[in-house]
Amino acid sequence: MSPPSTLGNDKPESGAGENYADINWDDLGFSLVPTDYMYVMKCAKGDKFSQGSLVPFGNIQISPSAGILNYGQGLFEGLKAYRTEDGRLLLFRPAENAQRMKRGADRLCMPSPSNDQFVNAVKQTVLANKRWVPPPGRGSLYIRPLLMGTGAMLGLGPSPEYTFLIYCSPVGSYHKGVLNFKVEDKLYRAISGNGGTGSIKSVTNYAPVYAAMTDAKANGFSDVLFLDSATGKYIEEATACNLFVVKGNTIFTPEIDGTILPGITRKSIIEIATDMGYQVMEGAVSVEQMLGADEMFCTGTAVVVNPVASVTYKETRVDYKTAGPEILSAKLRTTLVGLQTGCIEDKKSWTVRID
Ligand SMILES: *Cc1c(COP(=O)(O)O)cnc(C)c1O
Repeated sequence: MSPPSTLGNDKPESGAGENYADINWDDLGFSLVPTDYMYVMKCAKGDKFSQGSLVPFGNIQISPSAGILNYGQGLFEGLKAYRTEDGRLLLFRPAENAQRMKRGADRLCMPSPSNDQFVNAVKQTVLANKRWVPPPGRGSLYIRPLLMGTGAMLGLGPSPEYTFLIYCSPVGSYHKGVLNFKVEDKLYRAISGNGGTGSIKSVTNYAPVYAAMTDAKANGFSDVLFLDSATGKYIEEATACNLFVVKGNTIFTPEIDGTILPGITRKSIIEIATDMGYQVMEGAVSVEQMLGADEMFCTGTAVVVNPVASVTYKETRVDYKTAGPEILSAKLRTTLVGLQTGCIEDKKSWTVRID
C-alpha cells in the first residue's frame, strides 16, 4: 500500500514544491511527535517475514499474553533520515542497523527481516512521512524499528507470532545543555562478558537503568556512566551512548566485548578519527584513565557526538575541555554530520539515498 500523494495540512515552507508538516521545527527536542504512517510486517514462529505494509500511525492491538509484554521478547533499533540542502533524503548506514537487529533476534530466538526487507521498510516509512523530515540543519527524522513477540502464549518460550514495526518522529538534539556525567558504582547496565545481552538492543536492557538515571538527574547530572560488573574498575558506556576519552593524540574507547552496545556511530567515529591521523585504541578503559584524560565525548545516533563537560566518581569531580579549536569531538562531529547530511562527499558509501 502506498500513501496518498497529498497528506493534508501541508505547508510550503522552504523551496518550491516542498511540503512540510505544520510544526515549529525550532522547538524539536527528543520527544515523540506522532507522524502519519508506520510500517507493520508480521510472521509466524518458524516462518520468514515476507510482506509488510504502511498503515496509519496509531495504537496497536496485542494479546495481554503477548511474549513482548510478559517476557520481554523484543528489540529496538534507532536510525535517522536527513534532508540535504539540495532536497535529497539520506539514511546513514541502515544495513548496519539491520544486521544488529538480526544478531539480537538470533540471541532472543526471533525471526528477523532480511537486510533488504529492513532497509526497504525504512525507506518506505520515511517516504510516507516525508513532510515530517525537518528542513536541513533543523533536525532529523528519527526512525524506530521494533521487533517483538506478539503472539499469545502463557508458558515460557518463544512467541508463536512476531511483528516488525517501524515508526518515526522528527527530533532535534537529545541532550540539552552541557553534559555532566555521574559514574554509577552500585548498579550495572549489563553483565560482563559474552554471556549476557548488553551487546544487543534488547528492550529488557533499558528499564533497569532508570533507577540510576533518575537518581542522577535528581542530583543535577545529565546522565549516568556505567562500570563493568565484574570488577567495577573499567568504564563501559552511558545509558544510551558509547564513550571515548582523549589523551594527547590518542583516543581510547571500551572495546566491543559482549557487554557494551556496538554503536554504529562509535564505529563510524573510530574510522573518521583514524582517517584524520589519530590513534584509536579499543580496549579496557579504567576509571583512572578517564579521570586523567584531556577530553571526553559520547556517541550515538540520538546524541550524535557530544562533548562531556564533567564526570563525577564517588567524591571526585573532573572537568574536561568542551570548547575551543583544539577540541577533537567538535571536528569529529562536523565530519560525521557533514557526511550524514550530504554536505561532505561520501567516499565510503555510508549514506543511502531514498527519494
Ligand atoms: C543504541 C545505543 C548506543 C548507540 O548506538 P548507535 O548505533 O551509535 O546509535 C549506545 N549504547 C546503547 C546502550 C544503545 O542502546
